[in-house]
Amino acid sequence: MNNSIAIDGPAGAGKSTVAKLLAKQMGIHYLNTGAMYRALALLATRNGIAFSDEQGVGALLVNAVITVFYQGDEQHTVLNGEDVTELLLSEQISMGASTVSKLPCVRDTMAALQRKIAHTDQFVLEGRDIGTNVLPDTPYKFFVTASSSERAKRRQLQLESLGQSVDYNAILKDLEIRDKQDTERSYMPLKMADDAVLIDTTTLSIAEAVQKIRAIVEGR
Ligand code: C5P
Repeated sequence: MNNSIAIDGPAGAGKSTVAKLLAKQMGIHYLNTGAMYRALALLATRNGIAFSDEQGVGALLVNAVITVFYQGDEQHTVLNGEDVTELLLSEQISMGASTVSKLPCVRDTMAALQRKIAHTDQFVLEGRDIGTNVLPDTPYKFFVTASSSERAKRRQLQLESLGQSVDYNAILKDLEIRDKQDTERSYMPLKMADDAVLIDTTTLSIAEAVQKIRAIVEGR
């Protein structure tokens, strides 16, 4: 049985921050699986392939090598030998990742890759289908969510801190489109696993959310 920790939920709910802090406190690694879908969206953009083109994206995927490494607490994502971490945060790549991730061949390949990484050690994996698909056997499943206005506010602050000027309403709209696409796709949609614990960060701080998860994982 795998004892890695699965954290799923919609965009901007604080999953990455929670996963990162939890992993740090527990002395284990975290894997931001969204970054892998984002790297593929970047590859499609660079090759002029439409995000929804199953054959085109599938062909890119066959030869793509997507890996991660860690520098301090930060995950870096590597696409065909190039560290692309800094290039993955734009709204265009967010939407592209959501579209390529609808393709069954993409989901199967990514999930297999993530499973392989998770089985090398104990990890905190965060994404959309970790508890339902990537690690269905782990006893530690959490669904981290927050209201859409709170999530848009956080995303706006995150992008502004990176020097990008953004409009709150445009972010909210993008988040809602992405949520709809992620929850309504026919193959492996974003869904809370039946045995997951719901963590609502609308009013909980990141530290409180992490404390709640740790207490459950450590059986306190
Ligand atoms: O987590 P993040 O927002 O970076 O993910 C980008 C997109 O990648 C999501 O909107 C979702 O469509 C897709 N994704 C996924 N399954 C995962 C992680 C991300 O479908 N495990």
